Amino acid sequence: MDLQGPVIVEVLLDLPLPHGFDYRAALATEEDVGRRVRVPWGTGQKVGVIRALKHASTYPPDKIREVLEIWRDVPPLEARDWRLLEFCSAYYHYPLGQTVLTMLPPALRRVGGWLPPRRIRQAPKSPPQGSVPPLNEAQRTVVQAILRQPNFAVHLVYGVTGSGKTEVYFSLIEQVLGRGRQVLLLVPEINLTPQLEQRLARRWPTLNWVSLHSGVSEKERARRWLTAQAGTARLVLGTRLAVFTPLPELGLIVVDEEHEASFKQQEGLRYSARDMAIVRARQGDFPIILGSATPTLESWHNARTGRYQLHHLRERAVPGACLPQLTLAPTTKEGPPYWATALQETLDRGEQVLVFINRRGYAPVLHCPNCGWQAACPRCSVRLVVHRRSRQLRCHHCGLTQVLNEACPSCGNVHMETRGEGTQQVEERLRNYCPSARLLRLDSDSLALKGSWEKAREQILGHQVDILVGTQLLVKGHDFPDLSLVVVLNADQSLFSSDFRASERLYAQLLQVAGRAGRAEKPGQVWIETDYPGHPVLLALMQHDTENFLDQELALRRQMGWPPFHYLAVLRAEARDVAKVTAFLEEARQEALARGGDGISIFDPVPSPLARKAGFHRWQLLVQGAHRAYLQAFLASWVETLRALRSGRNLHWVLEVDPWEC
Ligand code: ADP
Ligand code: ZN
Ligand code: ZN
Repeated sequence: MDLQGPVIVEVLLDLPLPHGFDYRAALATEEDVGRRVRVPWGTGQKVGVIRALKHASTYPPDKIREVLEIWRDVPPLEARDWRLLEFCSAYYHYPLGQTVLTMLPPALRRVGGWLPPRRIRQAPKSPPQGSVPPLNEAQRTVVQAILRQPNFAVHLVYGVTGSGKTEVYFSLIEQVLGRGRQVLLLVPEINLTPQLEQRLARRWPTLNWVSLHSGVSEKERARRWLTAQAGTARLVLGTRLAVFTPLPELGLIVVDEEHEASFKQQEGLRYSARDMAIVRARQGDFPIILGSATPTLESWHNARTGRYQLHHLRERAVPGACLPQLTLAPTTKEGPPYWATALQETLDRGEQVLVFINRRGYAPVLHCPNCGWQAACPRCSVRLVVHRRSRQLRCHHCGLTQVLNEACPSCGNVHMETRGEGTQQVEERLRNYCPSARLLRLDSDSLALKGSWEKAREQILGHQVDILVGTQLLVKGHDFPDLSLVVVLNADQSLFSSDFRASERLYAQLLQVAGRAGRAEKPGQVWIETDYPGHPVLLALMQHDTENFLDQELALRRQMGWPPFHYLAVLRAEARDVAKVTAFLEEARQEALARGGDGISIFDPVPSPLARKAGFHRWQLLVQGAHRAYLQAFLASWVETLRALRSGRNLHWVLEVDPWEC
């Protein structure tokens, strides 16, 4: 490159603008593209990433400032990293600068620079390699079918819980590692990582691998990210944020529990880690595996239409382990529940019980029987949940807490009442009629302390607990061999939701919970309390007929024009002044109607169901498209208009593609 005069670099910054900024960098070379830099910004400084070298700038020369520092101690982002970031930025209509900065670990985004921590070598505390069970016939068939194809393909491994999906992943991972390629294993929750970490360490005691999730300190996260980028770490186990980790020799991605909502980032860059993983595999031309006992309707549809390859594991892997027996029972109003005998018998056999209720706290409603007052969040207008232990009222949307007062703030009545049950109340009720049983409550309140989950797991596995009371936190992929009875309380509230994904979610959740019972040789029992035993979700569940449920649900979605048959995007706007919000959305709607396109429908603005900041109003506008490409083209031009429309208004907006909640 023949450069005359000082070199100009285009630097991407974490700003909501579609372009980068020009700076002078006398010593910059092509090698520096993709490197992080420190630049002056106003009176302060910012960290950015060099996007390109330029011959000239369109800015007046006296406006161009000097790069303060180019960090060359860390390798630059490479072409393959840029391809993914550019796709992501275009797909989600999110500025490239913000996309790039989102993808870097926090420690590498900071002006203070990055000092690598002294490497503390931990002695491997993993037990020596246990014997790996030989794959059964069904597992072998799946592994062989996938291995036959080293190029890009999406494989949906659909198998009941305990069918040995993880063993299938491990067997494939082993092959891919053996070919000198790196592997990315994505899981939905941090909670799931200690268990998988142990399993990985046992399986490959000498392998260099790292785990990446928000529970790892920032410094350590950056260090691990860099070892992955350098190719030293051969396997990355991580939550959604790990999907962007640079991996020069990546040859396989596994997305376990692909249906989980936690793969969707709900703020900033609102990406789906599962979808970005698929894009990554396509770009790198290697296979990707999506695993689930209850695939999303999107994946199921793709499998049904042949875009994904479907692999089915029908049986539980441990010989003799069978599916649990399901019973529906009416909701307990008073006295002992219908499942009291089953509970007692299980405890008498020395086995464990899980009581599942998807609501933490003591009670979801605090009201005054005298004047009708109800405790509600002043920010979100949802009800506040009673937390008796801490004597607080808490908003489960925005986190607001208030002191729980004895008297009604409206009329002064001191005989306040609660309605409904949360984990704390269920715990209290169980303590009353099983006084000798050892109880453990597990929800995000009791697990708030670091390390408490690991401690709880040890207690459960060591059989120091008889009854577990917990929320969905408890049910994801954990394997407790002594657990043989599961009771589900209060499933009914999700049966009648206006959200088009509610049935899908409830079915997945109930199946996951049920899957906790009888994992090993012990036959399991599941009791579900409901007043609607004829509901289609429950009927399908009783018949263990997931395929039928998915096919029926697909037919319904097709009829209603919901995903995966139509595509959605939602524009959300938020401001203190509600009139400003509605005026903005109305103008946005008019613009959209004017430029609309093939098969694009624009809905009316409505208040958003999502949590918002104190004193703000949030509304939303739904856009539905019959064709992905037309919708994307429309959104790309609409976003430009929205930026212009927004200018001069004190208002915040976001556009979300493929929203999970609307
Ligand atoms: P999933 O991921 O589908 O829930 P796992 O791979 O965790 O299932 O397997 C469930 C249980 O079955 C585990 O305890 C595992 O060790 C055991 N298992 C898996 N495959 C086999 C096999 N081929 N033979 C014997 N046991 C197996
Ligand atoms: Zn709130
Ligand atoms: Zn009152």
